[in-house]
Amino acid sequence: MKNVFEEIVKGNIPCDKVFENERILAFNDIAPQAPVHVLIIPKKSITNIADASEEDSALLGEMLLVAKAIAKTRGIEDNFRVVTNSGPEAGQGVFHLHFHLLGGRSLSGRLG
Ligand code: 5GP
Repeated sequence: MKNVFEEIVKGNIPCDKVFENERILAFNDIAPQAPVHVLIIPKKSITNIADASEEDSALLGEMLLVAKAIAKTRGIEDNFRVVTNSGPEAGQGVFHLHFHLLGGRSLSGRLG
């Protein structure tokens, strides 16, 4: 079974694109858990945060700034959540690094 996000990066599977540059792609989650639910992923193949290394520092920071910029575009810049699951027991289902940007409703509940 191919990794769905790798296929999205390659253009083999379509996505509802929100942002793209040379390093990063962002698209709407197929099963949104909030009015705004965007996935921000690196084009580089990184499994999760546990798989990231020192050389990915700038990329990880840029992904967070992309999340912030999308939050502003969607009008949720004052209240949003960025979450990443690293490992199956943490809830990771797709094994290509992704940040969930969530907002547009109250997110005051527990994280897990
Ligand atoms: P995880 O559980 O790995 O942290 O999050 C994976 C996310 O990817 C889920 O929120 C799920 O709805 C989303 N997802 C899975 N397959 C696809 C897909 O083919 N397209 C899009 N846009 N989102 C997907």
